[in-house]
Amino acid sequence: MVPIAPTGFHDAYLFDLDGTIYLGDDLLPGARRLIEELRRRGIPVRFLSNNPTKAPAQYAEKLERLGLATPVGDIANTVATMTNWLVSNHPGATVFPIAERPLIDALTQAGIRISEDPAEIDIVIASYDRGFTYEKLQIAFDAIWFHRRAILVATNPDRYCPFPGGRGEPDCAAIVAAIEACTGATCQQIVGKPDPSMVTQALAGLEVDPRRCVMVGDRLGTDIELAVRAGMSSALVLTGDSTLDDVLATPEAHRPTYILERIDRLIPSWDELGWTADEETR
Ligand SMILES: [Mg+2]
Repeated sequence: MVPIAPTGFHDAYLFDLDGTIYLGDDLLPGARRLIEELRRRGIPVRFLSNNPTKAPAQYAEKLERLGLATPVGDIANTVATMTNWLVSNHPGATVFPIAERPLIDALTQAGIRISEDPAEIDIVIASYDRGFTYEKLQIAFDAIWFHRRAILVATNPDRYCPFPGGRGEPDCAAIVAAIEACTGATCQQIVGKPDPSMVTQALAGLEVDPRRCVMVGDRLGTDIELAVRAGMSSALVLTGDSTLDDVLATPEAHRPTYILERIDRLIPSWDELGWTADEETR
């Protein structure tokens, strides 16, 4: 299996961020000229992240710092999808978020009731929380197992968040696993990629058919699977989490439409633009 790039343009482009547009504090090769070229052509570009430790405004600040100024409204992450899911599906529920500030602030702003009293918690929200403690686990345990009251939901299914140099940080899946292990409960909803609600959130306000759009990312199980479930084309970029061997180990129906060794291969007209595959080009 060799990299295969698109030969035409799509109606809108959805991008993962970590491992796709940037890694740590560096844009990946070709990312800036790709986004600039799509915008120059008037093609909508949106960014999606499963990471609930930052609010969309913080992503906008980071992209601007990296030289890719982006309106906050063009960024969707699990802070927004979890808040919207609760408001739509469980209005009036009392929640216990195992979460960092951005999600807690968004829930509060949406008027969602938060409690640490296991006797009144309806929903335990697991997320990527670097302040996770035994005390939080005990509250979740009491709400779910002792009071037989709360359900467990989660922001995202990721096992770890990739860092530069092959390192990483334990992510939401570790917290879900801890709660499931002690309570015997099963997580009932995960709102992040690959749940198609991420696509609905990202394409809101655009008059586009998801079948004519493409989702671009570095993870098969989240980014590419999201496209599969939403009926979109998908492009796997080999600059992050996945390799060609990972693609071969994936059942055909769950493989990406395109495989790219660098992200700007999404643009088919390199010759016309005079582009070359310079590693230093951002
Ligand atoms: Mg990624």
